[in-house]
Amino acid sequence: MTFLYKADPQRGERWAELFAEKAPDIDFHIWPGKADPDKVRYLGVWEPPDRIAERFPNLEVLFSVAAGVDKIDFSALPAGLPVVRMIEPGIVAGMVEYVLWAVLGLHRDMPTYRRFQEERLWKPLSLSPAGGRRVGVLGLGELGRAVLRQLRTLGFQTFGWSRAPHVIEGTMCFGGRDHLPDFLAHCDILVCLLPLTTETTGLLDKNMLACLPRGAALVQVGRGPHLVAEDLLSALDSGQIRDAILDVTEPEPLPPSDPLWVHPRVTLTPHIASMTQPDSAVDVVLENIRRFHAGEPMIGLVDKAKGY
Ligand code: NAP
Repeated sequence: MTFLYKADPQRGERWAELFAEKAPDIDFHIWPGKADPDKVRYLGVWEPPDRIAERFPNLEVLFSVAAGVDKIDFSALPAGLPVVRMIEPGIVAGMVEYVLWAVLGLHRDMPTYRRFQEERLWKPLSLSPAGGRRVGVLGLGELGRAVLRQLRTLGFQTFGWSRAPHVIEGTMCFGGRDHLPDFLAHCDILVCLLPLTTETTGLLDKNMLACLPRGAALVQVGRGPHLVAEDLLSALDSGQIRDAILDVTEPEPLPPSDPLWVHPRVTLTPHIASMTQPDSAVDVVLENIRRFHAGEPMIGLVDKAKGY
């Protein structure tokens, strides 16, 4: 029984140690490795190999080592193959840290003070309390809900948007595309934590950015293709958006000539908001393997019809 891992090889070394310690009965290999393809029952991927069905005829579960599954083409997989995404405490903690850093920085005008410093300008701006700032999160999944919980403890007014309506105490929730403009109208700071699907690709375009209050700020931690970059650049230049913090872009990395690199109102980080932590991730994968064999629902089982 083999688990084949096809993702960052350096982190894979830690996965190998953990499998050896916690599940010595499972033969763990890092891609490409020397695993016998017929013995591969579990495949853990960031970007999956092609021809999965032909390569691994006895595959039982496809694990994404990331929270998102947008690199996986479901149409190329056997219909009955379960796909499981990564839900583990390390990813959640990393995302909460990043979004709090970004929201607090925007709330306290740090990008503006950075620009002032470059001009050697000593200029205090007025300080509004967190309670006067409205923060909206697109996506009320594992990550969106965890982020909102911490934003509420800091005193921000919080808003959320998802496909189906949710009820979250202390957060005003909106559900469905028809209510998106209304939700956006409430967001001084907008955080995107959506999965990438056909429905969410290009969602953040000029029409949606125009629904935000003038001078709103954006924190983009979903996936690059959610955002139409040229529409963001126009919105930044017109003052509709005051600042954008982007952890994800399309493509990744951006080519050196891309205007986002040098725009004074853009802060870029290289898709590091959150990372799967091997120690907690392996525990979740092993629990899911146990559940799979016991016929119990796996944590993070993807609904292929919805795409997330
Ligand atoms: P999740 O638990 O699957 O939650 C997804 C949320 O998005 C759900 O609330 C869902 O609505 C909503 N949604 C999906 N499609 C929608 C649509 N068409 N319209 C409105 N709402 C829609 O996902 P998660 O674990 O929170 O992760 C979210 C995403 O974060 C990942 O897919 C990935 O793109 C991104 N991420 C980024 C990083 C990074 O380092 N930058 C790291 C990890 C994850 P319902 O609740 O109604 O189903």
